[in-house]
Amino acid sequence: MTITRFAPSPTGYIHIGNVRSAIYPYLVAKQEQGSFILRIEDTDQARYVEGATELILDTLKWLGLEWDEGPEKGGEHGPYYQTQRKDLYIEWAKKLIAKGRAYADTTTPEEMAKYREEAQKAKKPFLFREHRPENPPEWKLGMPLRFKAEPKDYTYEDAVYGELHMGPETQDDIILIKSDGLPTYNFAHIVDDSSMGITHIMRGQEYLPSMGNYLALYEALGVPRPVFVHLPHILGPSGNKKLSKRDGAKSVTDYRNDGILPEAMLNYLACLGWNDGTEDEMYTKEELIEKFKLDRIQRAGARFDETKLLWLNGQWIRRRYAEDPKKLFAETANFWPESAKNVSDEEKYKIFCIIYDRLKTLSDLRTMTTYFFEDPTIDMSMIQTNKALKKLSESELCQILSDAANGLSELNEWSAEMLQNKLNELMAKSEQKPAVFFGLIRLSVSFAPFSPALHDTLSVLGKEKALARMHAVVTAFKNDQQ
Ligand code: GLU
Repeated sequence: MTITRFAPSPTGYIHIGNVRSAIYPYLVAKQEQGSFILRIEDTDQARYVEGATELILDTLKWLGLEWDEGPEKGGEHGPYYQTQRKDLYIEWAKKLIAKGRAYADTTTPEEMAKYREEAQKAKKPFLFREHRPENPPEWKLGMPLRFKAEPKDYTYEDAVYGELHMGPETQDDIILIKSDGLPTYNFAHIVDDSSMGITHIMRGQEYLPSMGNYLALYEALGVPRPVFVHLPHILGPSGNKKLSKRDGAKSVTDYRNDGILPEAMLNYLACLGWNDGTEDEMYTKEELIEKFKLDRIQRAGARFDETKLLWLNGQWIRRRYAEDPKKLFAETANFWPESAKNVSDEEKYKIFCIIYDRLKTLSDLRTMTTYFFEDPTIDMSMIQTNKALKKLSESELCQILSDAANGLSELNEWSAEMLQNKLNELMAKSEQKPAVFFGLIRLSVSFAPFSPALHDTLSVLGKEKALARMHAVVTAFKNDQQ
């Protein structure tokens, strides 16, 4: 049976660059009716961040990457926190000691510094095994325990990079158990992956240089190798270096707070450096499960392109709206402007329905809908600098707007449909182009660079408010002319 895992360290939030290490194992496990395990690698006490585990669990749930075994779920391979598996690492370490493949390290920090300095002077990479003690004492908890390397050539197969080789120089006497009694990542992940029956391990390419040591450990422990899947880096916008916080790369939580939909995030990240061989760009989670193939992961790093993510999010907003507008609306609760606080959901839903197809993120609601909730500040310069409107004089504009307001005031049924007809009729009468006639009314009621179709905007604003705003601008024109 296929068993995959995501093994994050609770050292902070989930960085965009790491999420594929959760998505791909999830997809492979689901595709093969296997099991997806979540394991928390919390043995590095110095880097432990309070609350990070909760954040990881929450992010995975939000993305729809439910684990079959792990925290909150349990399962036959638990416990799922490495700090709760201490005895197991000691037990496996003792097996290596018994085989003569691990020893107590009693090197002092001073000696260590000296060895490193010597290597540096000789311009050679530092290898601890060159200073391996001849008669180490019996190992006891509290002492670091080191692997006794028997360096040689290894060949292995990586699902992404193909056949790879690791020479003897890549292997050293690495630390297995630290003086605090906890294992290193190098040792713990192999013990856990083996004892949990993990069939595929997927992680970032930064682990490739350590493969010599890992292959030596699999061999010394007498456990089978899993399928190795090393994922190429995600590159920053410039496309030539690894994505970092400095590129403005946010955490998954930040994107969530900005109103990116989980479907879009999952879709976008799954396709960073992977495609199914077609030009398709939109995939549901179910489609990804069906189509994902390890051998279509690209070896070259994939560039993180926020513009593309925003575009895809816009597509997902439209798709989700078409599927179930009320459900999508329910997810917008935190994204409305402050001034909408006391406005009913019914009212907000009307606005949402006329504006959803222009949103790139749900948080666009915050900036794009304010004029529905509060009268905009009249800013005549927006009219004066408008490309179509600046060709007319203020008195002409004043007349057009005043006639339009009077014409609209005759309308008894203030519906989008009636408004559309009436606006067309009034525009014909005014002998103006749409850019002038609609543009002027649009600006007068919103003073926003953008608004939905005019008849929709007016109908949602309501007759009284819409006409009052138009009249206020007519007055402003008149005051200007005095
Ligand atoms: N805890 C490691 C990390 O967060 C896991 C690497 C792996 O998947 O083996 O990088």
